[in-house]
Amino acid sequence: MRIDVVSIFPDYLAPLELSLIGKARQDGLLELNVHDLRDFTTDRHRTVDDTPYGGGAGMVMKPEPWAQSLAAVAADRPAEAAKPVLIVPSPAGERFTQATAHELAEEDRLVFACGRYEGIDERVMEWAAGHFTVRPVSLGDYVLNGGEVAVLAMVEAIGRLLPGVVGNPESLVEESHSDGLLEYPVYTKPSNWRDREVPAVLLSGNHGKIAQWRRHEQYRRTAERRPDLLEAFDAAKLPRADRTAFADLGYDVVDGYLVRRADAGGDSG
Ligand code: SAM
Repeated sequence: MRIDVVSIFPDYLAPLELSLIGKARQDGLLELNVHDLRDFTTDRHRTVDDTPYGGGAGMVMKPEPWAQSLAAVAADRPAEAAKPVLIVPSPAGERFTQATAHELAEEDRLVFACGRYEGIDERVMEWAAGHFTVRPVSLGDYVLNGGEVAVLAMVEAIGRLLPGVVGNPESLVEESHSDGLLEYPVYTKPSNWRDREVPAVLLSGNHGKIAQWRRHEQYRRTAERRPDLLEAFDAAKLPRADRTAFADLGYDVVDGYLVRRADAGGDSG
């Protein structure tokens, strides 16, 4: 996969030289280029922002440096290649999820446009649709100062799904959100630490029991911390023991979906 990032703070992306993503770059699994938006300005001050039409606080990123930079990135591809995906981090975009990460990990080329100030002149996104598949994407319902932090998070989430990046691909299968649930709690040695015991089942060597305990812990944790995730959970084929586990948490299976019983206690009721 090839990734291009355009930003006025290229140094912000330096952590992408570290750890698994850095190694993936060294191993040639991921090509990542960072471009300075100011290199595509034409005035002495390398200006990238101006006041907003209609008035109001803050500054808006000027369209021309963006068009110049994105055109340069778009031009750098074989004529027959598909349009790259242009991801525009924005709190007003679609929510970035593990499903988005999987979808984007299938692409050959991604381009990220890091906004600053009040964002990028909207016409850039209209113009860019001629060269890219444009996707405004939000990291969550809060406002960051710029798109760089969002890009660090997205590139890490996408990059670790590329074949060969994570040593043991099994670890990707059992993670939080891979099956619509949060991951079970994990423990390592020693088995007794500061008078706290590791759950006995994990020391039993009984793989069936361990798998069931982990699944039930996923249910418990998700019900406690993210009950919203259970609304979409496909419960149609749950074995009896799992239905019982959900019943203990206050959920019944109705038409293949989990429904919280009206008489169930706790915060998520
Ligand atoms: N005025 C914009 C709004 O309310 O939608 C917020 C602009 S924010 C201060 C500057 C830049 O930070 C945005 O252009 C975007 O690139 C980035 N940003 C802020 N919050 C983000 C989020 N939740 N997800 C992704 N990018 C975000």
